[in-house]
Amino acid sequence: MADARARGLGRAVIFLGPPGAGKGTQAKQIAKHYGVPHLSTGDMFRELVARDTPLGKRAKPIMDRGDLVPDDIVLEMVAERVSRPDTARGFVLDGFPRTLPQAEKLDEILQARSWGQPLVVHFVVDPGQLVRRLTGRRICSVGGEIYNIYDQPPKVEGRCDNDGGPLIHRADDREEVIVERLAAYQEQTRPLVDYYRSQGVLVDVDGMQPPTTVTAKVLEILERGQETHSSPPESSAAANQVSQRYER
Ligand SMILES: [Zn+2]
Repeated sequence: MADARARGLGRAVIFLGPPGAGKGTQAKQIAKHYGVPHLSTGDMFRELVARDTPLGKRAKPIMDRGDLVPDDIVLEMVAERVSRPDTARGFVLDGFPRTLPQAEKLDEILQARSWGQPLVVHFVVDPGQLVRRLTGRRICSVGGEIYNIYDQPPKVEGRCDNDGGPLIHRADDREEVIVERLAAYQEQTRPLVDYYRSQGVLVDVDGMQPPTTVTAKVLEILERGQETHSSPPESSAAANQVSQRYER
């Protein structure tokens, strides 16, 4: 651990995968392990608006309206963020890039800063199982304990085992919201898997395993690979199956 923190990551690492695949949690763990920044789009947006910079001033009204922030603003934001001194030993990007044009621009940004190619960790999930995992989630309104009505139900329906608190189904976890977000991922972001795979910089991770197992796998990948890793397209049958199931 001390070693990892001393070395850092030495490169840009991108966590790629659909919403709900656990990328954010994993990114946080991994960034902490290596002592490098975890750059999530959500955090970057919040900071952008909080800081009274020209870019922040442009972004704020758009975000206040709840509109999608245009690519030029997002890219400028990312370019600025990755040029700060705290990224010198590498960083983890979570939630960016989201589209092919963003990925191409990111390549330019990284090259301009002599980072070379990123390493992309792709969280492979079964969409059906993902929907079940997310729609079944219930959160205790008292203690924040997390249950799943399918896989990890409370002893008494709708009540927390620990404190008897009522369990909440968050609006974000409603099936129609999740299905819509997954469809947007499939259409806009999923093409990045092929983009990075063809460059030989993408590694698949089974995102349906327990979180600690996933963390261990990701660490293994990052430790193995200060050199570049690739899985050739023909060996990605599992990933392709997942995407075909999505498309149906
Ligand atoms: Zn509780």
